[in-house]
Amino acid sequence: MGSDAPLATALAQFHAAADRLGLDDGLRALLSSCKRELIVHFPVRMDDGSVKVFTGYRVQHNLARGPGKGGIRYHPAVDLDEVRALAMWMTWKAAVTGIPYGGAKGGVMVDPKALSQGELERLTRRYATELAPIIGPEDDIPAPDMGTNPQVMAWFMDTISMHHGSTVLGIVTGKPPEVGGIRGRLEATGRGITHIVEEATAAQGLPRDGLSVAVQGFGNVGATAAILLHRQGFRVVAVSDSSGGIYNGTGLDLEALCHHKRAGLPLAQAPGGDHISNEELLELPVDVLVPAATAAQITAANASRIRARLVVEGANGPVTHEADAILWDRGITVVPDIVANAGGLVVSYFEWVQNIQRLFWDEEEVNERLRQMMVRAFRQVAAVAREKGITLREAAMTLAVERVVEAIRLRGLYP
Ligand code: NAD
Repeated sequence: MGSDAPLATALAQFHAAADRLGLDDGLRALLSSCKRELIVHFPVRMDDGSVKVFTGYRVQHNLARGPGKGGIRYHPAVDLDEVRALAMWMTWKAAVTGIPYGGAKGGVMVDPKALSQGELERLTRRYATELAPIIGPEDDIPAPDMGTNPQVMAWFMDTISMHHGSTVLGIVTGKPPEVGGIRGRLEATGRGITHIVEEATAAQGLPRDGLSVAVQGFGNVGATAAILLHRQGFRVVAVSDSSGGIYNGTGLDLEALCHHKRAGLPLAQAPGGDHISNEELLELPVDVLVPAATAAQITAANASRIRARLVVEGANGPVTHEADAILWDRGITVVPDIVANAGGLVVSYFEWVQNIQRLFWDEEEVNERLRQMMVRAFRQVAAVAREKGITLREAAMTLAVERVVEAIRLRGLYP
């Protein structure tokens, strides 16, 4: 495992928190491994009549604070160590936001863009069936992540419901609103990031109007964050997708870029600015950088060239452990993923609560409750960071690990 691998980053972050908290060896061993790991190899009939076997995972890191919660990723590079790291981050994310869940994550090694809708549906239904023994509204509740979307969650819910014999709304979150989903879930992670950007820039005494922002990744998280930040008066000067990025120092026309993306075109071919690489985007002299694509984008190799004042982690694990230290030495503030991108988890939690209660809120109420939880989490973490003279990540991890350890202590060791 390389030092930039997500699991290396997640473990280094955990051990640093464990050192600060003086955790004993037993707790360290418990929390640096995952409680339950399911690996499945399953067949799917392709449109041409052939059968392909896919590999998928579901990992539950720790369930001391509640049922497992975490997304499902469809990506060719998914592997067990990555899923473990993502599950671990979910444990800390739920703890730091005060949501009564444990951490879990799943994934299938597949390029969803290479599948037809029929193949994607059959793959999802079979994968859901393979996970059935360990998931459930009281056990482990999946959600969308990279490469999955509300339609995939609807198939997931329907599959488990067919096995059960009646509709089980609370089995997954991120469903379309027509089948038990919550309004505002799709934008929740990006919206949560905007609350964090507002809080973090205000904490640094920066005025909002005209502050420049670069966003890496123009998917669910990145595009939503870019559009909402633009609407709130920030100057979004650069965005990118896996094809590359586009830069315009006076501010990009984001509606036009969304239109371009909806037409299925890559940002590398978008009009309205200069074309830049993803590496160049990360090194722009902006006020706020939001890496919202994938893990390990800011590493020891490029951390010394980052010129943003504030890095807000939209993706999971975009800044490696080594890069974190370099950015801290250079006076660049990093708002960690477990706080910054928790909006999806927060609204997923609201969806699950609503599914169980059969009581639905309107979108304004969802958004206002989301704002309150994001602001509260950020302020609690910032207060610990100030008080102890540590980074926001160290503070967030300290709070999160402390809460999980307290739950473990109160529940006791069975038998
Ligand atoms: P998505 O699939 O909708 O979008 C990903 C975007 O990143 C796309 O624009 C893609 O082209 C781009 N991308 C992928 N690899 C890239 C690379 N190497 N360089 C540059 N761009 C690249 O995914 P998403 O749901 O927006 O998730 C993005 C990140 O946010 C992931 O790390 C995910 O785990 C994390 N996250 C998502 C949610 C959520 O609610 N969707 C919640 C928390 C965290």
